[in-house]
Amino acid sequence: MLTRAALTSVVLLLAPGLVVAQDARPSFTVGTATAARGQKALGVLTVPAGSDAGYDIPVAVLHGAKPGPVLAVVSGAHGTEYASIMAVERLINSVNPRELSGTLVLIPIVNIPSFEKIVPHVNPTDNKSMNRFYPGDPNGTQTDRASYVITKEVVERCDHLIDLHGGDLDENLRPYSYWTVTGNQKQDEASRAMVLAFGLDHIIISADRPKDPNAARYLENAASTRGKPSFTAEAGRSGPVQAHDVAMLVNGVRGVMAHLKMTPPAGTPVHAPVWIEKVVTIAAEQDGVFQPLVDRDARVVKGAKIGVVTDYLNRQLQEIVAPDTGIILFVRALPSLKKGDTIANVGLVRPAKK
Ligand SMILES: [Zn+2]
Repeated sequence: MLTRAALTSVVLLLAPGLVVAQDARPSFTVGTATAARGQKALGVLTVPAGSDAGYDIPVAVLHGAKPGPVLAVVSGAHGTEYASIMAVERLINSVNPRELSGTLVLIPIVNIPSFEKIVPHVNPTDNKSMNRFYPGDPNGTQTDRASYVITKEVVERCDHLIDLHGGDLDENLRPYSYWTVTGNQKQDEASRAMVLAFGLDHIIISADRPKDPNAARYLENAASTRGKPSFTAEAGRSGPVQAHDVAMLVNGVRGVMAHLKMTPPAGTPVHAPVWIEKVVTIAAEQDGVFQPLVDRDARVVKGAKIGVVTDYLNRQLQEIVAPDTGIILFVRALPSLKKGDTIANVGLVRPAKK
């Protein structure tokens, strides 16, 4: 006959074997959102008050019915890059956690102050870009503290991250992704496969991004320098939300989810993209009125006229020419021009390998 004590020890002996079969992640929590397996939870990441006000960053956690990788998709670091924001809004309602393997963490609007006040490029609270201060600082201004919260709660807890952007209010931009070369071959192959699965037809090779996790600056680099294959993609431009731009980003994320085996194979063929090996920025040398002579995506040769800058009485101050032969990745969408503003980014195409 087994005594109660003996019975207990039998159970204890069995226990290590039982743990293996148990779910290591029966739920997943980000900020105030806790989702059980097969569920979606909505909540916020709280940015505490400091030298300036605190605020809440909305977050959705879709915890798949089956285990798998954790993919974070973040947009709205620039709160007026609307197509990317609307793409993540759509993913919140269109991905079914019951059909998911792994976990999807969705943050549609990092820069709530920019979104609410319709201010491009920066967080109007402290005038900082919300994609330049990673990994953040708990004792800094609002952007630093928000970046710190995202690093701790999202970057450090995901396996992969996609940072979505687009043409801001003043950027007439053609869609493209960035692929960061870290020098770690295995990681670079993994991130390259993710960018290809995302499917945008132009990819900028970023070989000069920060390598120090404590000075990552960009969100994607905060993830990449922490060993997580990640990338950035941009679609949409200068204000209006166009359905095909949103669809491009939604389908891109779905392509990556299928590639990571979070969902069944997508079956979409991967087309050979155009690889951009260098981006040359043309910055305004003076205030004035900018009048473009090319559209986004134009192929330009070195010396070709891209636009003119005039004064407020339409007297020409400067002719803007292409500094090199390449593709207009984006051209300024608005006439308002201040010294230092970006007039255009020209992408130099990597020659096809023989
Ligand atoms: Zn952006």
